[in-house]
Amino acid sequence: MPVEVDLHLHTTQSDGRLTPTELVRLVAQKGLRVVAITDHDITDGLAEAYQAARAYPQLTIIPGVELSTDIPGNEVHMLGYYLDYEDAGFQATLQRFREGRVDRAQEMVRKLAQLGMPVDWKRVKEIAGSGAIGRPHIAQALVEKGYFQYPQQAFERHLGRNGLAYAEREKLTPPEAVRLIVGTGGVAVLAHPAMLDGLERILRELWEAGLQGMEVHYAEYDEPTRARLAEAAHRHGLLPCGGSDYHAFGTPGEHLPGELGPPMEVARRLKELADANARARRPQRV
Ligand code: AMP
Ligand code: ZN
Ligand code: FE
Ligand code: FE
Repeated sequence: MPVEVDLHLHTTQSDGRLTPTELVRLVAQKGLRVVAITDHDITDGLAEAYQAARAYPQLTIIPGVELSTDIPGNEVHMLGYYLDYEDAGFQATLQRFREGRVDRAQEMVRKLAQLGMPVDWKRVKEIAGSGAIGRPHIAQALVEKGYFQYPQQAFERHLGRNGLAYAEREKLTPPEAVRLIVGTGGVAVLAHPAMLDGLERILRELWEAGLQGMEVHYAEYDEPTRARLAEAAHRHGLLPCGGSDYHAFGTPGEHLPGELGPPMEVARRLKELADANARARRPQRV
């Protein structure tokens, strides 16, 4: 069956390399019918994406976001769908996270210089543009300077969670991210959970906080991994979501939109959950 749904995509508003317009064109060409734009800590790509999607009436765009959270020694990403993203409080929170990203990127650039890999901070900011700055932008600057052939290689020893040049920034805990998303009327979905130690405990804790889905149909995962995650999702009553997590990095083997994603039924149920959340959130008249 052709893949029609991709619930995990990035644009130039965060660390993706395609503008929202370019991404919408690509997913429409690939025959996708429901896609979510899930930039890190920013929703500013949505307006342009909706504009571009007017040329493709068969394409539905779900508003989304990806938040980074921390647990000891690892990071946990949380996806939020159908949030009331124009909410001023929510936007102020995202803005604060993005400011934390700037300080943290600067700190990582300092550490890289100490490690003998200087990059120009101005260049990193230029690569990041006006959106949410992230480690892939630093990785690209390192590639430009010839330290690595591909951005992903910079993560192995330097930019990864436990890497030599890693620096922290303000982040939520995973339950806080779930509550932020739910409190903004959204559906909270745990991103790429295969690598998490203690997944069972995490799922129980996040379910309590209001988690409603987790990624299962994630392009990078092989069939046994997807089967294991599907079983866990089922057992915890979580919607099995997923997508390509496409960034257009250009890394060899990068998974493209349309390669793998959840079935259309999952997109339908995601919308039902969002509608039910919105009804529950609306103040009751007495
Ligand atoms: P940041 O938002 O600055 O924490 O960067 C997160 C992004 O960096 C992710 O969305 C991935 O695109 C990329 N990334 C994080 N860890 C790795 C890794 N170990 N290998 C390759 N890319 C990574
Ligand atoms: Zn990313
Ligand atoms: Fe992620
Ligand atoms: Fe992502």
